[in-house]
Amino acid sequence: MLSVDEARRRVLEAMTPLPVEELPIAEARGLVLSETLLAPHPLPRWDNSAMDGYALRGDEGATASADSPLVLEVIGEVRAGDPGDVEVTPGTAVRIMTGAPVPSGADAVIPVEETEESDGKVVVKAPAARGTHVRPAGDDLNAGDVLVQAGTELGPGELALLATMGFSPLRVRPGPKVAILVTGDELVPPEAEPGPGQIRDSNSIALRALVADAGGEALAFPPVRDDRGVTLEAFRRAGEMADLVLSSGGVAVGKYDFVKDVVEELGRIDMWRVAMQPGKPVVLGSIASTPFLGLPGNPVSIHVGFEQFVRPAIRKMRGCRALLRPTIVAELTEPITKRPGRLHFVRVGLRLRDGRWFATPTGAQGSHIQSSLIDCDGVARFDIEETGIDAGSDVVVEVWRLPEGDHQS
Ligand code: AMP
Ligand code: MG
Repeated sequence: MLSVDEARRRVLEAMTPLPVEELPIAEARGLVLSETLLAPHPLPRWDNSAMDGYALRGDEGATASADSPLVLEVIGEVRAGDPGDVEVTPGTAVRIMTGAPVPSGADAVIPVEETEESDGKVVVKAPAARGTHVRPAGDDLNAGDVLVQAGTELGPGELALLATMGFSPLRVRPGPKVAILVTGDELVPPEAEPGPGQIRDSNSIALRALVADAGGEALAFPPVRDDRGVTLEAFRRAGEMADLVLSSGGVAVGKYDFVKDVVEELGRIDMWRVAMQPGKPVVLGSIASTPFLGLPGNPVSIHVGFEQFVRPAIRKMRGCRALLRPTIVAELTEPITKRPGRLHFVRVGLRLRDGRWFATPTGAQGSHIQSSLIDCDGVARFDIEETGIDAGSDVVVEVWRLPEGDHQS
C-alpha cells in the first residue's frame, strides 16, 4: 500500500498548471495570479493630508498653542482631486481635505477642530510641527516593492491594491473545468423518491460543492449506469470537455465496477491502495491527454479523498503557491481507538478555549456515516502505526474551515 504522502506526490506530479489568461481586474476575483507584480510607483504617490484642516508650514505651526495662537492668511483650498498647485509661503495656510495633496511649501496639517476661520484668516490653537497629519509619499510602498506574489489567490485586499496600482488586465489562471462522473445503478436524483434498493445521489452534490470550493468549475453529468458501453461513452465525452475528470464509485473489484477498465481503454491508469482510512482505493490516470482521478463511492470516502488528492490537484492546475490545507495542533477531547496499518482521518469539530484548540470527533467514523460530516471543521490525522490515543493528547488537525463566531463559549 502507498502512503498518503507518496500517493499525493504522484497525483501532483501528473498535474500541470493551466495556460495563463488575461482578464480585466473586475473579473479576477478568486483566480490565481500567474506572475509576481511590483509597485510601478510609490504609494501614496505624493504627500497627502490625513485630516480635513489647514496645510501650513511646520516651522510656524510648531509654536502654536491655545494660549498663544497662530494667525495665518487662508490663500486657497485643495480638495480631493485638486492638483494642489498653490505655494504656501510664510504667514499663510491652505484649507485642505483628507487625501488631497499637501501643497508645496506646506509640510504639516492642523485639523479643522483645532482652528477657527473668519475673514480670510485661520486661528491655529494647537501645535502642528513638520509632518503632523501628513501621509508622506511612499509611506505604504516604494517603487519596486513586491505587491502580490505569483501563485496568490486574489481576494479583496489583493485586488484593491492591484487596482490602486493600475494593474488591469491581470495575468491569471482560471479554475480547471472538472467533469464529475458518479457511477451506480442504484442512484436517483435528490428530488426523487428512491425505489427498493435505490439511494439518492449525494456524491454529485458533494463533489460539485467541493470542486467549487477548491476553485474549480464543476461540469455536472448525469449519473453513469453500471454498464460498460455507457461508462465508456460518458468517460470519453467527459475527457474531451474537461481539464480534469473526477469520478466516484465503480473502482472496487465488483462485477459491475467498470471505471478502471474503461479508463484503461481510453488512456491509462495507475490503481493504488492507499494506506488511509477512509478512502483506500484511489485511481490516477488519464483519458486521452486529460488527467483522471477516481475515488471510491462511499460518501465519506469521496470527501476525505477529495481533500487529500483532488483539492491539491486542482490547486496545482490553478497555479496556487500553497497546495495543502493548513494544520493546527489541538487537544483531543475523547479517546480514539484505531488499528495500526493505515493513516486514519477522523472528522472533528474544532473549538478554541483560552487560546487552545480542542478537537472533538463528530461521532461514528465509518465510511458510510454521512452524519460525521456535519459540524465538521477538519480531520485529525492518526499515523499508520498508532493504536489508541488518549483524551487530552495533542493531535494534528487538517483544517477545512474555522468555526464562525464566538469561539470562547
Ligand atoms: P462503489 O464504490 O461504486 O462500490 O460504491 C460504494 C457505495 O457508495 C455504494 O454502495 C453506495 O452506497 C455509495 N455511493 C456510491 N455512489 C454514490 C453516490 N453518487 N451518492 C451517494 N452514495 C453513493
Ligand atoms: Mg458502484
